[in-house]
Amino acid sequence: MLSGEPRLYSRYGDGVIVEAGHFLLRRKHLSRVLKGEIVAMDPRTPVFQGTPGTVVKPGTDTLRSSYLKLARTHGGPIWKRMSNLNPLRPSDMSDGSCGEIANRLYDLNLKAGCQILLSPYFYFQDLEDPWAVLNLDLFEATMDRCDREPVLMVLAFDHRLLAQKAKLMELKDLVAGEAADGYAIWPVGLDETSATPETLYGLAVLTIELNKPCLLLYAGYISMLVAAITGAWFSNGVCFYERRELEVAQPLNFRPSCGYYLRRLRQRVDPVTAVVFYRMLRHLDLEPSFCSACDRNIDGNGFEGIATMPDLDLLEHNLIARRREMEAMSSSSDILTECLEKMNWVLKHKEQLSRIRRLGFFETWYRTARRLLEEPPHNR
Ligand SMILES: [Zn+2]
Repeated sequence: MLSGEPRLYSRYGDGVIVEAGHFLLRRKHLSRVLKGEIVAMDPRTPVFQGTPGTVVKPGTDTLRSSYLKLARTHGGPIWKRMSNLNPLRPSDMSDGSCGEIANRLYDLNLKAGCQILLSPYFYFQDLEDPWAVLNLDLFEATMDRCDREPVLMVLAFDHRLLAQKAKLMELKDLVAGEAADGYAIWPVGLDETSATPETLYGLAVLTIELNKPCLLLYAGYISMLVAAITGAWFSNGVCFYERRELEVAQPLNFRPSCGYYLRRLRQRVDPVTAVVFYRMLRHLDLEPSFCSACDRNIDGNGFEGIATMPDLDLLEHNLIARRREMEAMSSSSDILTECLEKMNWVLKHKEQLSRIRRLGFFETWYRTARRLLEEPPHNR
C-alpha cells in the first residue's frame, strides 16, 4: 500500500472491503490505516475448495503466509485438509464444522470492526453442486451466531449460470427461505469485457429477482450500471479489475501498472495512451475535463504531464473518475439512454480511436444496455 493511499479511500470511497487473508497478515497496520473504513471482510473460503496450487508458495510445499493464517483461522476440516495440502471435500463438512468456521470468522469480523458481515461461503458450479447447499449451511451457522450486524449471504457461482434464466430462478428459490439481510454476488470468472449480452443481462435479472439489497463484488462498468438501475451497491478492486477468477489472489501492493482510467472509453490504459487520446479529443474540438490529480501533473507540462504521473496521483485520478462516473449515473433521470449515447459516441469514433486496442466490448455493452432499456427485468 502506498503511503497516502488510505487517505484517498476515505475521501473518494464509501468504505473498504478487505480480504481476510490480507487482514490476518497485516492486521495491526490495516487496523490503524483503515480505522473506521472497513465495511466488510471477504472470508475467501473458496480458495480451500480447489487445488492447493493457488495457496502454495511456488516451488515449495508450504502454504503462502496469508493462506496459512486464513486456513488456521477457518479451523475445522479446512485446517485439517490444508495443513496436509489437500483441498476440502464436501463430505468433510458437518453441522459442527459449519458452526466452528462461522464462529471463528465472526470473531475475526469483530476484530476488524466490520459494519456488515459477509458469511463464509463456498463456490458452486451449478445448483446441483453439493457446495450450493453447504453454502446455505455456512450461512445459517453464521446467523445462529450473529445477532446485531446485517449479514449478507455470499453467492459465488460459475458466471455461466447468468446466461440461463431457469438456473437463476432455481438459485432464487434455493436461497429464498433464508433470513439473509441481502446478498453479495460474485459471478466467478465473469469478465465484463468478453461476456455475452445474455450473461450481462442475467446479472440484472438476478439482482432484481433476489428482491433484497445486493452488493455486486468485483464490479466492472456494467455491474455499476446494474447497481444504478437496481439500487444495488457495488465494490471493485483498487485498480478496477473487471474480472475475478477463483484462484487469482489480488496482489498485496499497489501495482505501478495499474493504468489510467479513461471514462469515455471505460477502461484503464497506459498513461501515454491517455495522452494520445486527449490529443485526439482536442482534434475533435472536444475539450477534456481534468480532475485535481491530473491538473497537478498537467500544470506547466501540457497533456504530456499525464504520461509521467506518480502512482499515487494515478490512483487518485482513478478514484475520482469512478466516483464521478457513479455520481453521474445516480443523478441521471434516464441512465440507460445516457449510457447508450455515450457508448454510441465511442462506436462512431472507432476509426479515430484505432490506437486503442480494446474497444470490441462496446458492441456487447451497447446491446446489453439497449436490452435493459427495452426489456427491463422485473420480479416474477
Ligand atoms: Zn484525472
